[in-house]
Amino acid sequence: MAEPSRDDILAVLSRIIDPDKGRDVVSLGMVQGLVVRNGHVGLSLEIEPKEAGRKAPLRQACEEAVAKLEGVLSATVVLTAERAQRAGPTPPAPHGRPAAAPGARPSRPELPGIGAVIAVASAKGGVGKSTTAVNLAVAMAQLGLRIGLLDCDIYGPSIPRMMALSGRPETADGKTMIPMENHGVRVMSIGFLVDEDTPMIWRGPMVMGAIEQMLRDVRWGELDVLVCDLPPGTGDAQLTMAQRVPLSGAVIVSTPQDIALLDAVRGINMFRKVDVPVLGLIENMSYFICPHCGERSDIFHHGGAKTTAAKLGVEFFGEIPLDIEIRTTSDEGRPIVVSNPKGAHAKAYLAIASRLLDTLKGPAANRKPPKIVIV
Ligand code: ADP
Repeated sequence: MAEPSRDDILAVLSRIIDPDKGRDVVSLGMVQGLVVRNGHVGLSLEIEPKEAGRKAPLRQACEEAVAKLEGVLSATVVLTAERAQRAGPTPPAPHGRPAAAPGARPSRPELPGIGAVIAVASAKGGVGKSTTAVNLAVAMAQLGLRIGLLDCDIYGPSIPRMMALSGRPETADGKTMIPMENHGVRVMSIGFLVDEDTPMIWRGPMVMGAIEQMLRDVRWGELDVLVCDLPPGTGDAQLTMAQRVPLSGAVIVSTPQDIALLDAVRGINMFRKVDVPVLGLIENMSYFICPHCGERSDIFHHGGAKTTAAKLGVEFFGEIPLDIEIRTTSDEGRPIVVSNPKGAHAKAYLAIASRLLDTLKGPAANRKPPKIVIV
């Protein structure tokens, strides 16, 4: 039996009236993060924090209405309370940052004690996003900043291995978790809470719930930067995260060849759509120097990310070569910036980390919170 389309679901929801407002939940813009996958439907209903107690029947009515649709195997509706929204998005300025809107308020840290939250993202898997996130996080810690690393890659958490961390996080009060720590970075990952070979079959709202818990129910303490390793891709999960995690900006990792860059463009556009500034683009696996003869080969081409960045008005942060030492150290849990801190690769990561920090000090630091796009 075919699963219903998003329009079918929205049509059903548009008949559910919020008794407080006398209008339906769709036209009120309450429906968010609608995900339909293999007959399972998930969505959240946006409410005011003070309404939480009395909106339970509305939530239930939505869930029952969706569950009755033909082809729906399960329906999950959760209530979420966002912060108050402000005016609409600001058009992107050069370098992908929103232009400073007249009267724009200074940044309002959504997570107390955390200065900036940045996403490391890639439009597809296997381009070295997690390796880059780990090396940049450790490099920023080496530069003297207080850094956290949150593994949002709920379907394939690789940060615990790359940071040589295992076991369960401790809790001091039974409610909040204490992040694990290695190489000077505080780390949280779903990988600490589930077995490595347990498949993640969570639906959209559950994924978001887990990430919000790892953001807010973890004792991060004071952090200058929290680096979030996003799951690869530009689908619903990434879009929801980009909307719901209070991101200061995103860094996109791409390999140099054309096909990968087309994906990177999609990634950039995804962040722009939800008004998250793209801070810069990094070209990973940029070139290869043969360790035996010293000859250089551009295995995946070279320079494509720089050209794409210039075309799209996004800053280009730099190149990281394809090198066996980067792979082995990252897979062994001793990132190259730790295992060979004086080497050329560590220097490349450190240079990118400091460019990134400079960018954060710029207009991105004063950006408005992301506008929530109603789907
Ligand atoms: P992603 O997060 O994009 O899926 P990973 O960071 O997990 O990618 O990297 C995929 C594999 O490629 C890993 O084995 C990693 O060690 C390796 N890798 C990443 N970047 C490089 C690089 N610059 N040189 C060599 N190997 C790399």
